[in-house]
Amino acid sequence: MANNEESRGLKSLFDWFANRRKSGSTSLERQEREIADGLWHKCSKCGVLAYTKDLKANQMVCIECGHHNRVDSDERIRQLIDNNTWKPLDEHLRPTDPLEFRDRKLYSDRLRETQDKIGLVDAVHTGLGQINGLPIALGVMDFRFMGGSMGSVVGEKLTRMIEQATQRRYPVVIVCTSGGARMQEGMLSLMQMAKISAALQRHKDARLLYIPVLTNPTTGGVTASFAMLGDIILAEPKATIGFAGRRVIEQTLREKLPENFQTAEDLLLHGFVDDIVPRTQLKNTLAQLIALHQPVLTPPHMVLWETMSLTSTAAE
Ligand SMILES: [Zn+2]
Repeated sequence: MANNEESRGLKSLFDWFANRRKSGSTSLERQEREIADGLWHKCSKCGVLAYTKDLKANQMVCIECGHHNRVDSDERIRQLIDNNTWKPLDEHLRPTDPLEFRDRKLYSDRLRETQDKIGLVDAVHTGLGQINGLPIALGVMDFRFMGGSMGSVVGEKLTRMIEQATQRRYPVVIVCTSGGARMQEGMLSLMQMAKISAALQRHKDARLLYIPVLTNPTTGGVTASFAMLGDIILAEPKATIGFAGRRVIEQTLREKLPENFQTAEDLLLHGFVDDIVPRTQLKNTLAQLIALHQPVLTPPHMVLWETMSLTSTAAE
């Protein structure tokens, strides 16, 4: 009898563990499925799970550790530009393959595959819009499109946007993220550096404001041109910003580089960057900087007074 009860007890205990293991594995499976579905997001820095909805509400900045997860260009425009004010520019510009370049696959195939996969034509969005009611010209690079590499379309779209901004007397903001110039377009992508820089110089000659925002990572030809030409250069926390990669420099110098090498924080310390702004404060910071640099307009009563005195002088 006692034996029976004991064995029943053992059996139920065994069942309990078995059930628990079973339910454990299902909840783990469910968790993995939910991550795959995009319902949950696991922070690549601290490993904490967060609801994607909550994370998006916090502009993809980890609520636990403050890690800035990468955001795509559409999301970035939503974060920065006032609702219903975004007017995209030059959406018809499409990349071509003038060198008929081939590495592991044809450049033309690679372009088509990337376009189909992420629904973008090339690695930058440009347009006009408002930021807290102030008009700006905004360019946003997208790392998903071939590592945000700068080819002819990126160069041409940014140049045309800067030229529009100069004409309309708008400030320019470019959110940078790039692995550098697009090697598949060779010399044609390198000349974009000079083209964009020249357009920025004309914008500067018109006494207009340009603010690049350096996000993770900003490297190569983009760093060597428009990313570093700002009147005020902002960066996101912990962003990697540099020209050549850490491994290449270590191999060339045969020296181990410090841990914080090429981080936004190290660049701020050495004067390459003017401020590090967390993403959640970026829109307001940009709007404040733009408002501070607005040209001082002559008050309407002064204009009226000047007109009146001119008229009276003419009458005399
Ligand atoms: Zn985290």
